[in-house]
Amino acid sequence: MRKTPALFLSIFLFINCGLLTANCFVFAQEEKYVRVLILKDKPTVSFKINGSFEIDDAQSGKVLYRGKNLKAAITAQKNGISIGKTSFKSNKVLLRPDDPEAVYLESRKFRGNLVFVRNGRRLSVINHIKIDDYVSGVLIYEASHYWPTEALKAMVLVVRTFALYQAGENAVKDYDLTSDIYSQVYGGRIGERYRLNEAVEQTKGLILTYQGKILPSFHHATCAGHTEDSAQLWNIDLPPLKGVPCDFCKESPHYNWHQVSEEKEIREKLIGAGYDINKINEIVILGKNPSGRIKNLRIISDKKDITISCKDFRNIIGPNIIKSTNFSVSLVNGDVVFVGLGWGHGVGLCQWGAYFMAKKGYSYEQIIEYYFPGSKLSGIK
Ligand SMILES: [Zn+2]
Repeated sequence: MRKTPALFLSIFLFINCGLLTANCFVFAQEEKYVRVLILKDKPTVSFKINGSFEIDDAQSGKVLYRGKNLKAAITAQKNGISIGKTSFKSNKVLLRPDDPEAVYLESRKFRGNLVFVRNGRRLSVINHIKIDDYVSGVLIYEASHYWPTEALKAMVLVVRTFALYQAGENAVKDYDLTSDIYSQVYGGRIGERYRLNEAVEQTKGLILTYQGKILPSFHHATCAGHTEDSAQLWNIDLPPLKGVPCDFCKESPHYNWHQVSEEKEIREKLIGAGYDINKINEIVILGKNPSGRIKNLRIISDKKDITISCKDFRNIIGPNIIKSTNFSVSLVNGDVVFVGLGWGHGVGLCQWGAYFMAKKGYSYEQIIEYYFPGSKLSGIK
């Protein structure tokens, strides 16, 4: 497969590294790329390119087509991919515009190159993009551009680090990240803002590491009292991710949540996920983690009872409906009533905690050290 050019050299980038040593030099910075899945299972996709471009077979690297200014549909065909009226016997094509800011896909503007992958009569589209262009496209969905600069810089560090961690984990797959909440929400060029881009520039080339390895720098909206130990959720057991108390997010708009769902809706989602239950009579909390989040739930129904991890329950019902695994639950007149605390899985950086820390005058280095104790700021290798 022909790879997107992997590095650009920036010379003698001078950065005040804070936690590393004061005023250190980071030499010959590499500009890394990430691959972000932006569309999936589409029979056809419309796009527009301004200026010159090239279409390559992504597997052989062979140039299939060169052109200028094109507005067309890309469609998955029986034996390949068609672009406008031209068909190519290829299952994976790379679209490379001369101007990296010249591509519109379904009316959204993207930087970088696009790869179209055919799977039967469906297409997936993957954006190959410089890491910091990706970070700029993510930030608007994770933090407001009105946030204090130090909070934005802390966010940039966790988003950049997390993306590169994912790139390492997914190297054998077609893409590193999805563009939804299961990775980090990414909207392309449309999401960028001046102050966010500034925070990206001011921390350029820096990531978080632990013992020389890229830290899986998870983040979430609001922890509501204590961040979570990553080992409670995933097979990741690292000292910077063991969880810390957090009073900073007390004023977060997401500190409390309340959800009333019909019993039938909860039941149908569980059945849809393969659980054998009937009408739900009661939901019992089975055990809590030290952070206060629920380990398991016992769901008592007419037909039989099931035990489910609260993490799975939240994912099945919807992570934006059940905003956290820290809640009380009761059945009231045929409704399931949840009263909860915080938003997100709770691991790593508490975004609203970072916001209020920055408001109180903490630097981004101090915010990072607070939520990821023992981690280090390092140059990208
Ligand atoms: Zn918090």
